[in-house]
Amino acid sequence: NGITLEQVREHVWEIPQEGEMRVPARVLASESLLEEISEDKTLEQLKNTTHLPGITNYAICMPDGHQGYGFPVGGVGAIDAENGCISPGAVGYDINCGVRMMKTNLTYDELRGNEAELVDSLFANVPSGLGGGGIVEADIDTVDEILARGVDWALEHGHAVEEDLLHCEDEGMREEADPSKVTQKAKDRGKNQIGSLGSGNHFLEVQRVTDVFDDEVGEAYGLEEDQIVVLIHCGSRGLGHQTCNDYLRKIEKQHQGLLNQLPDKELAAAPAGSQLAEDYYGAMNAAINFAWVNRQLIMHRTRKVFERVFDRSWEEMEMHLLYDVAHNIAKKETHIVDGEERDLYVHRKGATRAFPAGHPDVPKAYRDVGQPVIIPGSMGAGNYVLRGGEHSMERTFGSTAHGAGRLMSRTQAKNEFWGGDVQQQLEEQDKIYVKAQSGATVAEEAPGVYKDVDEVVSVSDDLGIGDKVARTFPVCNIKG
Ligand code: 5GP
Ligand code: MN
Ligand code: MN
Repeated sequence: NGITLEQVREHVWEIPQEGEMRVPARVLASESLLEEISEDKTLEQLKNTTHLPGITNYAICMPDGHQGYGFPVGGVGAIDAENGCISPGAVGYDINCGVRMMKTNLTYDELRGNEAELVDSLFANVPSGLGGGGIVEADIDTVDEILARGVDWALEHGHAVEEDLLHCEDEGMREEADPSKVTQKAKDRGKNQIGSLGSGNHFLEVQRVTDVFDDEVGEAYGLEEDQIVVLIHCGSRGLGHQTCNDYLRKIEKQHQGLLNQLPDKELAAAPAGSQLAEDYYGAMNAAINFAWVNRQLIMHRTRKVFERVFDRSWEEMEMHLLYDVAHNIAKKETHIVDGEERDLYVHRKGATRAFPAGHPDVPKAYRDVGQPVIIPGSMGAGNYVLRGGEHSMERTFGSTAHGAGRLMSRTQAKNEFWGGDVQQQLEEQDKIYVKAQSGATVAEEAPGVYKDVDEVVSVSDDLGIGDKVARTFPVCNIKG
């Protein structure tokens, strides 16, 4: 692809600044991950993002990076919030796609023998797949309330308990949300999807903890070997997608001057301080609240499913939220740049916030050890809980990876794998029970389509941006 990289230090590679680039770009990767990253358009896209006005220090690609819409998935762009811009493509279509992990006090031994019943019951009770049907059917006024209040709405309506809010980024509510900036069309798409996984890459997975690498932090997080946990991955469904689309079109129309300076139309951005920048920020924050409510409703429904299958109350099973992380967002944050405090729109697209111990935005419960970071692998591989590392603020604007990262497109995956075979193999070899809306989904999401999550995480750990705390392995998985 004609892009030359210079090694800065172990696992850090730089595309030096040249031409219209405003800053250099950096890739955080081992040599083998870098080879994979170099195979698609990721590096080109990363380089393009350095043309965005106000981009600060360098554009960053995480070890799980791959190509996306304009801005790479696994990309972090910290952009000056006063003189720079905000870019919907650098947030992603699925606004506040993210993961949350719920703990239990069940052990793998207690669960064994119940996998088939559990997976069937989860599949029957947690809405999934394309299109309509959620846990709650809402009118537009209710959608507006959800957009404004986030998980606080869920608490009032019996879908959450107080402590759930305390274990969510921003306590499950972005105050800057402005529901009036979300279009009617987006709200219409969202109103029947509140509490639904969606399709494809989204999932609900029951897992067992296989390793605890750090006893002190493991204890602070309440994680132990053999413990059963639940991982939920989904986002803002049609509402977020429509919001991204709406603002891309508006920005393309109204800010052509800026657009013409950019090497890729998909990077369309609204200048900081413009009406559209404010409107998009208000709408995006509203979609963020919607996604938090979505994951909250699914988690609370999961508690009820466990109650039926294990004939105990969820409180008795200590089904508490460990943490919820967003991995497709932009947030106005204050960072130190060249010794000075600056307000930046930190765009994390397929990247996770990883704030270290002591940071005031880390919830009280975790302030002494750093925030939990949750990194899924695949339906047949490990998953990780990390904690925000001590170097994350200076190296990555407080961010790390968000998953293993795709190796191949969905089309390619369907040519390589057959869903039924994948499912059978997982069950026979690894005792992993998968239930999906279609065989095609299983093929598209087969373990072989993802990179090596152990390698991704070891880069994060080595760089001190997100440190390994625990590893989990799938037991039951439902997919949209
Ligand atoms: P994304 O948000 O980019 O679609 O996905 C995040 C990450 O989730 C992927 O990079 C992949 O590593 C992981 N992943 C995708 N499907 C599954 C699954 O079924 N189970 C688990 N544990 N991880 C998955
Ligand atoms: Mn998503
Ligand atoms: Mn996601």
